[in-house]
Amino acid sequence: MKCDLQSKFNELYEAKPKYLAYSPGRVDLMGSHTDYNHGYVVTMPINLEIECAFTPNETGVVELYSCDFNTTIKIDTKTGEMVEGDDWGKYVSAVAKVLIDEGHVLKAFKGAFCSTIPVGSGLSSSAALEATVMAMLAHVSGFDIDKKNMALLSQRAENVYVGVNCGILDQYSVIFGERHKAIKLDCRELTHTQVSWPNDLMVAICNTNKPRTLHGSEYDNRRAQCEEAVAEFAKIDKSITHLRDVSIEFFHANKGVLSEGAAKRAQFIIEENDRTHELEEALTNGDYPLLKDVFNRSFEGARDLFEIANDTMGQMYTAMSTAPGVVASRQAGAGFGGCMVSLVYKDKLEEFKKGVFNTYKELTGIECIIYGVKTATGTHIEPCAQEVLEN
Ligand code: ADP
Ligand code: MG
Repeated sequence: MKCDLQSKFNELYEAKPKYLAYSPGRVDLMGSHTDYNHGYVVTMPINLEIECAFTPNETGVVELYSCDFNTTIKIDTKTGEMVEGDDWGKYVSAVAKVLIDEGHVLKAFKGAFCSTIPVGSGLSSSAALEATVMAMLAHVSGFDIDKKNMALLSQRAENVYVGVNCGILDQYSVIFGERHKAIKLDCRELTHTQVSWPNDLMVAICNTNKPRTLHGSEYDNRRAQCEEAVAEFAKIDKSITHLRDVSIEFFHANKGVLSEGAAKRAQFIIEENDRTHELEEALTNGDYPLLKDVFNRSFEGARDLFEIANDTMGQMYTAMSTAPGVVASRQAGAGFGGCMVSLVYKDKLEEFKKGVFNTYKELTGIECIIYGVKTATGTHIEPCAQEVLEN
């Protein structure tokens, strides 16, 4: 953790915190934009995470401080409305509101959190914040929510009350995360299976350090084009409700009915969905040439067909693909900037980092940040150390 959270809590509230809540960020290894198309995603919870110290109380007002933004927000537990605060409080308010909509009576807490998840970079800092807040509210209010419901309600909070039309990937990944495991998520059934992991490989995340551009509007536009393709294909085969239902053979036989834009978007999603199965096969068999090939095809499709990779991402892709120790590289998250992901040999991580940093700086003039990450446990709560001793 980058700050001494318990001291910060003490300084703010002149008391020791009782509990710690955690939520990891996540990185997708294959399956860009497949979640809202009801497809698959290979995803991994990562040890860049939110940690929040908190203590329940009966004041009726949730008080939460972000060490990263250095601001406090206050939420009325009866209405879920923010009564004092900063823009990021909308995520906290949104979570409180969906829980109230579900009929829960909420109690309050005082909390302080800090995060190592880079904000707005495609590693799900918003989903981690939502999941942490939901877990804390359920804990202090005395009710349980199962993981699947927690993921769906967090997604609903972001869709309905924050106004971001995201799919289920982020929330599901941060809530269901398990140590030592990448998972393959079925976004239609909302189930997952574990994906085996070669011992000598690890994941490196390269942050372009360039803010995402046009993210919200372009994201909505991609979703609309996918829906446009489904509407046309459904006229030919009624059983098609999402691009998940379209095979690549059907696509090529019928793509003439689509506009040029919708055809490019649909082709990417159908191929990207198939690549999740190829990646699983490559990881299971330790087939590194296939890993490289499937990652490369994913990036090329993101750039040329789905058009979510800007020039900075192209320069980062060059830096990552030519660095020592790399096995495979591609985009991460929704694209339009932010973070990208490589699989690298564990014992070559430092050389990889140096190589990426230098090449990317030469190409762009920007100093990037590279994180070697491990898998992490999903959203959970623990008593603080002194609580364990006292009980
Ligand atoms: P991503 O989820 O890809 O990181 P989003 O744009 O979906 O990007 O969410 C980022 C938003 O989440 C921030 O603008 C802020 O409102 C909120 N957020 C994330 N991390 C923190 C934090 N540590 N403190 C306060 N707010 C945060
Ligand atoms: Mg987000």
